[in-house]
Amino acid sequence: MMCPSPAPLVVTRLPAGGGGGGTVAKQKVVEVVPKHLKADVAIIGGGVIGCLTAYYATLRGLKPVIIESDGIASGASGMAAGILTPYTGSGASELLALSKASLKLHVDLVKTLPAETGVDYGYDSRPHLRCVFTEDGAVRLKAWQKARAKEGFKSEWLSPLQAKSLSAWLTGDILGALLSEIEPTVDAYRFTLAAFTAAERRGAKLVIGRASGLLSKGKSKAAGVRLVDGSEISAPETVIATGPWAGEAGAWLGYPVPVKPQKGQMLYLDLAHGGQPKPQVSLGGFDTGGILLPKKLTETIVGATREDAGFDRAPTDAARKDLITKVSRFSGRIMDASIVRQTACLRPMPADGKPYIGRAPGWDGVWLGIGHWSEGIHFGPLTGRYIADMVVDDKSKYDLSAVASSRISA
Ligand SMILES: Cc1cc2nc3c(=O)[nH]c(=O)nc-3n(C[C@H](O)[C@H](O)[C@H](O)COP(=O)(O)OP(=O)(O)OC[C@H]3O[C@@H](n4cnc5c(N)ncnc54)[C@H](O)[C@@H]3O)c2cc1C
Repeated sequence: MMCPSPAPLVVTRLPAGGGGGGTVAKQKVVEVVPKHLKADVAIIGGGVIGCLTAYYATLRGLKPVIIESDGIASGASGMAAGILTPYTGSGASELLALSKASLKLHVDLVKTLPAETGVDYGYDSRPHLRCVFTEDGAVRLKAWQKARAKEGFKSEWLSPLQAKSLSAWLTGDILGALLSEIEPTVDAYRFTLAAFTAAERRGAKLVIGRASGLLSKGKSKAAGVRLVDGSEISAPETVIATGPWAGEAGAWLGYPVPVKPQKGQMLYLDLAHGGQPKPQVSLGGFDTGGILLPKKLTETIVGATREDAGFDRAPTDAARKDLITKVSRFSGRIMDASIVRQTACLRPMPADGKPYIGRAPGWDGVWLGIGHWSEGIHFGPLTGRYIADMVVDDKSKYDLSAVASSRISA
């Protein structure tokens, strides 16, 4: 039962426009909630992991509360490039089955979420060209092709002429390129918003506030979440999905949580006004870095930097120059395009390169969905589904031992 005396505590809101250039964001109505709420599951963090966990939890009949200190998808989940990798993006072979399972969940989700929520998140599947400029790069790319082929990922080696015939955007002096057929993308902001909207329609609530600790019954049984303003969400299960801020949960859990922020900056190109068509394929410099990523619903993306800058989220001139220089190696046309937006956000970088998913070591009723680094949009459905399964059934058909949260205490 909820406390009957409501206090004007919560304004439910979404970030204006979204980091990814989204225009779907609507200001939600002001929602007044009691100072003390009860939920089946309290989810800290309204990024892609928190929203998908809430969504799958509602499918299992639970009524979750998402606690978000800023706005839905206000972190990296609203600004990511949105690439879904049908192979192991990090190269860790033990993640292949998980990568494929999450992609399959994405394919299922796109059949229902946009229609159900009215949020088209621009699921798209274009070919991708990885270009090389050096002999060493060509050797490494061919080795990469071989390794991916073993994983069932199809690609074809192209001569410079063949590659250039596929896109007028490819103007650089390349030695060759690898063409892969299917590399899906979504608009990350809209995708997260769609997951949130679907969860909300099934009874999930959003509380805007900053979690400051766990409520506990005894030493190791969690009973919900305390917010900095003193309000409390009581819940038998709590999920920590706080992205790059996950390290703060160390103070709540009693041991270090090895996730830190990695800054990533991207540019958005306005091609329509320069009279340039969108690239037909996405292009990347395998040995030089840089990617040019046409998107179905938003401007073409130029990505992305990887910087160790703590929690700083300010866009910088240095990053803009770096990205333009990298992409201009394979596409001189970038020099004629105008940049309409520059974004900076934080990847949640785990100490050993893999996410931590599952029960928080030493705790009953606390779950971790953290450390998704460069692949949270891709892995979000699997993480959300797994945690919801575990909360309800204490088992899942998915084997996530490769990313088990027990690694933290080890
Ligand atoms: C430039 C860039 C490009 C990327 N491209 C891709 C890509 O192509 N494909 C892909 O799969 N991934 C990509 N990623 C990675 C992806 O964005 C992340 O892995 C993913 O968004 C992480 O989601 P999250 O929900 O864990 O964290 P976040 O999106 O950071 O969400 C965490 C939320 O928790 C909230 N929060 C934190 N602490 C508290 C607290 N104490 N109380 C309440 N709320 C709190 C924050 O406000 C935030 O909204 C990219 C990342 C970057 C930076």
